[in-house]
Amino acid sequence: MATAGKVIKCKAAVAWEAGKPLSIEEVEVAPPQAMEVRVKILFTSLCHTDVYFWEAKGQTPVFPRIFGHEAGGIVESVGEGVTDVAPGDHVLPVFTGECKECAHCKSAESNMCDLLRINTDRGVMIGDGKSRFSINGKPIYHFTGTSTFSEYTVMHVGSVAKINPEAPLDKVCVLSCGISTGLGASINVAKPPKGSTVAIFGLGAVGLAAAEGARIAGASRIIGVDLNANRFEEAKKFGCTEFVNPKDHNKPVQEVLAEMTNGGVDRSVECTGNINAMIQAFECVHDGWGVAVLVGVPHKDAEFKTHPMNFLNERTLKGTFFGNYKPRTDLPNVVELYMKKELEVEKFITHSVPFAEINKAFDLMAKGEGIRCIIRMEN
Ligand code: NAD
Ligand code: ZN
Repeated sequence: MATAGKVIKCKAAVAWEAGKPLSIEEVEVAPPQAMEVRVKILFTSLCHTDVYFWEAKGQTPVFPRIFGHEAGGIVESVGEGVTDVAPGDHVLPVFTGECKECAHCKSAESNMCDLLRINTDRGVMIGDGKSRFSINGKPIYHFTGTSTFSEYTVMHVGSVAKINPEAPLDKVCVLSCGISTGLGASINVAKPPKGSTVAIFGLGAVGLAAAEGARIAGASRIIGVDLNANRFEEAKKFGCTEFVNPKDHNKPVQEVLAEMTNGGVDRSVECTGNINAMIQAFECVHDGWGVAVLVGVPHKDAEFKTHPMNFLNERTLKGTFFGNYKPRTDLPNVVELYMKKELEVEKFITHSVPFAEINKAFDLMAKGEGIRCIIRMEN
């Protein structure tokens, strides 16, 4: 490639300050260093995690920064020592990586890689502690090692999953975070038995994917819980059979769910990021066997409070990043599920905007409209 080894000038959506609309700027993207790859992003989408760190109300502010972690692209060039991917390969970036060498990567039970696990406060590359993005020589920081709101980005090779080049990137880009996270939270972590009842807290993309995962796993009742009633009609397409809006009741939602299910749900998956919903999701599971799984990213000062008796009564609380999928090993197989038509991703994609209008995707999420908005880098 003519650009290999050279600085690339391209457009990126820079967040200069917390909560201020992103501004499209010309940035310089340095070549990838050892164990890094530079990727041309073709499609990206907005996940609520980007919004929390952009608002920086309950999270550490790191600015100026390039957000974005749900995306699809093509490798432009690779740094020294990279053998797993080559220029031209189609890849999905992942916010939590897989080095393939540490104890976590070698364990069948964990995807919490020692080297590349999610770190939302780091704004630089792991190799040399520097940023690969700059404007007039001043660094612009990275986000979750991905920074996909840029025409080109540099990532550690362990943060990209090489996928089937036949897979349409404008669709499978949503598998790079939200959809796989929700799906895996149900299938890999909650593991609802056939015929069981599952409550899903939060019916955004992640929660709807968790509902879909519960349906695939064989759950027969899937109760969606959301404060936004507009979500309910849409959620039927994802396997939700019943709905509860906590606003419609004058008692705690745990009690409402216990009454609906003869003592509690068998499994619950929390996909809101709200600490109260996390506690409710735990307390609504049946004693003796109930399992609750937390997926939402909490406020940095949040504390989980519940009476210890809730645990003694044989309830289990778990949490997961990326649905326990190992990104490089497992994500290509999730893409294959889509290719075999066993997993539909189109129904998660409700909007699409050109890169120049990226702020519209933030507006839609703020209004709770639609599910995922694809941001097209090229037109
Ligand atoms: P989203 O904004 O599209 O959906 C969140 C939904 O939760 C909304 O419909 C909202 O109305 C609902 N909600 C908020 N507070 C609630 C409450 N108290 N009770 C019931 N419903 C409530 O967001 P998303 O992109 O689907 O992401 C969902 C969450 O998952 C976010 O917290 C995000 O940061 C997190 N996330 C975690 C991982 C992971 O690996 N653990 C990966 C991706 C996203
Ligand atoms: Zn995400």
